[in-house]
This record gives sequence, C-alpha cells and structure tokens, in this order.
Amino acid sequence: MSPETQRLLSALGDRLGAGGVLTGSDVDQRYRDDPDGKLGALPEVVLRPRDTIGVAAALAGCNAVGQPVVIQGGRTGLAGGARVQPGEIVLSLERMSGLAAPDTQAATIIAEAGATLQAVQEAADGAGLMFGVDIGARGSATVGGNIATNAGGIRVLRYGMYRAQVLGLEAVLADGSVLTSLKGLPKDNSGYDLSQFFIGTEGTLGVVTRAALRLHPKPASEVAAFCALPSLEAAIALLGTLRQKLGPILSAYEVNFAPLYDEMAATMAMQAPLPVGSPVYVLAEIQGSEPDRDGERFAEVLMQSVEDGLVEDVVVSQSPREFRALWDVREDANRYLFSMKGMISIDVSLPLERMAAFLDAADSAIHAADPGARIYVFGHLGDGNLHYQVLTVDPYAAYTIIYRAVAAAGGGVSAEHGIGLDKKQWLHLVRSDAEIATMRRLKASFDPKNILNRGRVFDLDRP
Ligand SMILES: Cc1cc2nc3c(=O)[nH]c(=O)nc-3n(C[C@H](O)[C@H](O)[C@H](O)COP(=O)(O)OP(=O)(O)OC[C@H]3O[C@@H](n4cnc5c(N)ncnc54)[C@H](O)[C@@H]3O)c2cc1C
Repeated sequence: MSPETQRLLSALGDRLGAGGVLTGSDVDQRYRDDPDGKLGALPEVVLRPRDTIGVAAALAGCNAVGQPVVIQGGRTGLAGGARVQPGEIVLSLERMSGLAAPDTQAATIIAEAGATLQAVQEAADGAGLMFGVDIGARGSATVGGNIATNAGGIRVLRYGMYRAQVLGLEAVLADGSVLTSLKGLPKDNSGYDLSQFFIGTEGTLGVVTRAALRLHPKPASEVAAFCALPSLEAAIALLGTLRQKLGPILSAYEVNFAPLYDEMAATMAMQAPLPVGSPVYVLAEIQGSEPDRDGERFAEVLMQSVEDGLVEDVVVSQSPREFRALWDVREDANRYLFSMKGMISIDVSLPLERMAAFLDAADSAIHAADPGARIYVFGHLGDGNLHYQVLTVDPYAAYTIIYRAVAAAGGGVSAEHGIGLDKKQWLHLVRSDAEIATMRRLKASFDPKNILNRGRVFDLDRP
C-alpha cells in the first residue's frame, strides 16, 4: 500500500468512525464471495460508510490519490461486477440499509442502497402495497446492486425492470460530488434525468446511495398455473393467448425446457406438480383485483388451450399454499443448477420469433464441439429472456458459440445480469463501435481517473 493510500486511510478512519475502515485480519472472506464460485482477490481494505457524506468523503479521497475502488452490495451479481481485482479497495454499502416509512398516498418508498430487496418488499407489504421486482436472490441482493444491474426477475412482464421502479435517486460521483434527486415525482422533465445514468451502468459512473422507489397496489388475487406443453412454439402461442384474453393481469410467464424439469423432479424435496416427460413446462401467474372472477377466467382460458392442443396438462393453484408450492418448483431450478460444479450460466435476450432457431443452432454447435455437454434452459419466456446453462469440458468454446448465435438471432448477450468483468469480451457482438465509443466517453467524463469499477463492462483505455 502506498504512503499516500495509508495517509488517506487514516484520514478516512476518523471520518467514517468505528468499523468504517477494515484492514488486515479484520477483512473477512465474505468480501470475496461470488455466486459463480470465481473467487476474487482478498481486499486489503474495505470502506463501510454509514451515510452519503461518508461515501462522498471516501470517493473524494480515493480519487485524489487515484485509488481504484470496487463497489459491493449483496455480491449476488452473476457477471463478476463486484468481484475484487488486485489493488482495489472495496466500498461496501452494507451499513447503509435504512428504509423510510412508505408514503402510502404517493405509493413510494425511499431506501438506502444497502437495503435488501426483501426488506423493501416487506416494508411495502406492511403498508398494504407491493414492490414490483422479485428475484431469487431477494434476501441478499441490495437496492444499489439492483439499480446498478437494472435487475429484472419474474414479474417484468407486468411491472417492468428495475428502471421502471426508480422515480429518482441519489448518487455520488468519483470526485465525491453528490447528485440528489429524491422528490419521487412521477413526472419531471426539468432538464436531464441524471438518475438514468446510474441505472444498469454497473457502478461505472457513480455510487448509488439512496433511491425513491415506486410501489404498486397489492393484488387482491394471485393464481399460478403449471403447464406441460408439446413445444416452444406452443408455449409462445399460449403466451399470446393469455395476453390477449387476460390483458395486464398476466404477471409472470416462466419456462423450463427438457431435460431440466425431469432431472429436478428426481431430486426435489416437494412433490413434482406434473408428470415428467414433456418437452416444455411453463409457470404462468395472474395478479388481479377481482378475486371472484380472476381465477375462473384464467382457468377457462387454460382449459380452452388444452382443448386446442396448445397445453398437454395443467395444474392451477387453489390456495395460497398451492400457489407458493408452484413457485417453489420454479425456484428449485436455481437450487438444482447451482449444485452442479462447473456449470456455466448464460443469460440472454432474444426476439421470440427467433428463439427456436437460436436454440437449434446453439444446441447443435455445442454438441458438435463437445458431444458430452449437458445443456439446461429455463427463464423468463414472457420477456424473451433465457438462462442457458452448460456443463462442458470447454466453457470458453460454449460461451463463444452461444454469444455468436445470440448476435445472429438479433438478441443481447445479457438480458438482466449485466456485463461486469465476465462478458465484456463479447459486448462488441451486440453493440456497435459507435455505441461502445459513446459509453467510453461517458465513463471518461464521469470518472476521468477511472477509479470506479475499473474494467467492468469495457476497458476504458482500449481503442
Ligand atoms: C439465486 C440468484 C437468482 C438471481 N435471479 C436474478 C433475476 O431473476 N434477475 C436478475 O436481474 N438478477 C438475478 N440475479 C443476479 C443478482 O441478484 C442481481 O444482479 C442483483 O441485482 C445484484 O445485487 P447485489 O446487491 O447483490 O449487487 P452486487 O453483486 O454486490 O453488485 C452487482 C454490480 O452492481 C454494482 N453495485 C452494487 N451496489 C452498488 C451501488 N450502491 N452503486 C453503484 N453500483 C453498485 C457492483 O459494483 C457490481 O458491478 C440472481 C442471482 C442469484 C444468486
């Protein structure tokens, strides 16, 4: 550590108070955690401010000496954005987890960046409202990480991605300047909406410290249906039918392709809701405001789809317990796949009409490269977002095959997990030179010394 950095840390120790600067043996292994199992470096220093002023002091100091900083929320990101690189100091938002009481009239809540998604959901629920985003990592993923990655999840179909939940935010720039936009106004065209720069930019332009988030009315009815289908084409047709017949109450549409469900069913703690053996399974959900009619309408459309041959078999939840049990089956996919060592996890976005062609091309190219490769696909079909998982002896070849196939199909190499460190070499397949050059210009203007999340999304210094 340079003498300059040591002087900085002793100044910050006074500024951030007890537990605000961790060094040496006080830095524990959890700051290296990575759900993909790719351990980062053990950081020499972790800064843990308690408030925005503390974040501003930390960044101004690091910027003055050119000290690289990696921002950490809950470390559940799946693109390596929060993974520590040698020489980086960690800036953790873990001591900034406060939530203001929800404003029930405006249906908003102000959250600090280190608050977990689950804490926001529970606060909304306690006020008779709901938060529109839900993801499997809800207990650890934070508001700041969700904003930085523009998290998606299971109800994007109904409520949009995280960007749609952010009415405004507060962020600190690399030089310590604080930008605060927390009025929570649904409409405000008074100049540039600077908050947008920090949503989905993976911590490369600034540190999010607080956000004003939109809440929604709590649904009066929630019903889930688990369906077995003969093909992807049938699943896409059923999505169209449900949208047309049910309109906005369709809130989730999740897919699971063979052989994933069959293998999961063999190791599930709960009873599998439908027999195995179908090529495609879908979990569809409605959230409505008319409990007496919603479930009935949903069941009618599904029964008609069985008669029309779109659906082979279906089970519809009849109680909150059954509703939860069907969702547990969906979430069990993560349990099953994360238990397989060496599995690579790819999160892609595709136009629905090109999805079947993409799957055919990717599956056959991967099997040509590695005949023993095992492929598992599931995801958020309603949003054109597939999680494509591969167990192969040659992960690099698989990544390259899939990302090229995605680009050929007019898709995106990251639907919701971001680019981070792990996908930057493939960004050029789906974004033009002009787009990447513009991203670099923005980064250079917000963070001229390149101290924040250096090397995430793209490298600044490479032409
Ligand atoms: C089981 C499981 C299921 C998941 N399901 C989904 C899903 O359905 N949809 C989805 O979108 N994602 C999903 N994810 C990925 C992950 O949960 C999200 O990317 C989440 O938004 C990351 O939040 P975090 O607090 O853990 O961020 P981290 O992992 O700590 O950080 C992620 C990125 O954000 C930056 N960052 C963190 N905090 C801030 C801040 N305050 N200001 C600026 N930058 C910051 C980091 O530097 C890093 O680049 C899943 C992950 C797991 C493990």
